[in-house]
Amino acid sequence: MTNGKLLTGLPIAVDFWKLPPSNGLYLYFLTHLHTDHTKGLTSTWTETIYTSSLNRDLAISMLKVNPELIKPLEIGVSYKMNRFVSVTPIDANHIKGSVMYLFEGSFGRLLYTGDFRWCESMINDPVLKNLSESKDLNVLYIDNTFEHIGNEFPTREQCTLDVLKIMKNHPYHRIIFGCQTIGKEDVLLQASLERKEKVYVPETILKCYRLLGLPCEEIFTTDQADSLLWFEKLNQISQFDLKKKNSEMPTIAIKLTASGLLYKSTKFKDDELIFTVPYSNHSSASELAKCLDFLQPGLVERIVRTNTQKLGLSVIDKFHSFLATIKAAEMTDDITSDSMEISSFDSPVFKSQDPDYFYSAVSQFQSPMPIAPTGTEDTALSEDMDEELLLELGSPRIPVAAQRSPLLTKTSGELDEVLTEVNSIVISISSDIDQFEEDDNYYIYSDAFFEKLMVLHKNYQPFTDIPTHKLME
Ligand SMILES: [Zn+2]
Repeated sequence: MTNGKLLTGLPIAVDFWKLPPSNGLYLYFLTHLHTDHTKGLTSTWTETIYTSSLNRDLAISMLKVNPELIKPLEIGVSYKMNRFVSVTPIDANHIKGSVMYLFEGSFGRLLYTGDFRWCESMINDPVLKNLSESKDLNVLYIDNTFEHIGNEFPTREQCTLDVLKIMKNHPYHRIIFGCQTIGKEDVLLQASLERKEKVYVPETILKCYRLLGLPCEEIFTTDQADSLLWFEKLNQISQFDLKKKNSEMPTIAIKLTASGLLYKSTKFKDDELIFTVPYSNHSSASELAKCLDFLQPGLVERIVRTNTQKLGLSVIDKFHSFLATIKAAEMTDDITSDSMEISSFDSPVFKSQDPDYFYSAVSQFQSPMPIAPTGTEDTALSEDMDEELLLELGSPRIPVAAQRSPLLTKTSGELDEVLTEVNSIVISISSDIDQFEEDDNYYIYSDAFFEKLMVLHKNYQPFTDIPTHKLME
């Protein structure tokens, strides 16, 4: 999965590493080092890349990119790249090193957020403040990872306190922290201080943490026997594994992700071995709304391709409607008091904190019935989406019965219905394959594609007759 883009009509590629060599025609920018933003960037890369200085160190260490090709840029400083383009990096408040980019030239002003978490202090950032005041941001390329999740995320500070609370409730347990490569290290630091114990991390992660300037010798160890606090890749955490670990000693896992953020998962599930704390490095829907309100862009482009459209209008859809209303007023030259009101921040069409919208978004997530299966759009999820959410997001595209129990007790009429549903999954999988071939030969199997195969296998094994080992290979 990739979450990068070529900017429309411009020779500028951000987190996009799939073009053939352009001999300097394209300008390449890197926002941060999560893998969904670096796919295709390897030691064989031959063109100049611009990024923050920490990203440069990480790209050299993690991806073995030729150091001579990566030019560091300072946050807040405007650089003239050539006659046509200037760029200013801005702190993205996502993970350490991550940056947004403001591109300026005769084409106008474009802001590319990359992955980011909007926060109140951003209204004081000189570059963003200037954009807001001048009201001339032409295009905002925005991280829409959580555009459909309506309820507020707790702050990262609150989430860290929640983690410590769970730890206090399990003083003698081994605790597994579900993390991505980088981005959750602040929680591990606090956990180490709480238990007065080092945190186990794999050698590769420790290498990254050293580059981040963390106090590695005091806080981390690469010997599992040294610690009862373990780093684990988010997607490695499962009930099965936890049960196995509990046969050795009492163990719980804390998944640090907002990707499964339903209303219910903001509460601790004390009856489970796995806790989810919605520590998010992406903006919540209401934070996206605040960002849109503040910047008032003329156009909004999504960076992350999702298949959540069927979950109802998102905050970005609402902003698009708001823009359409303004355009319609301009087309008819209808500069009345009404249209003037619409173009203000307090627009009745678009509000930062629309309780009805947020309530409906939450209700839809809590809805017991999956939404009708339609659409064939490919799925490219950012690194914060774990399998739990893949299942949630995948549900609109998978027929209802496919998510229910196996079919051993079905009548023949019901079996016909089920076979039709199986057929529709197969058609959906086939259309995915078509799309991969058209879109991108590089990826044969997406997560969503594999997910569908697993659903098919799990629920229809008696019919599909596919031996387990064949799917798992
Ligand atoms: Zn990221």
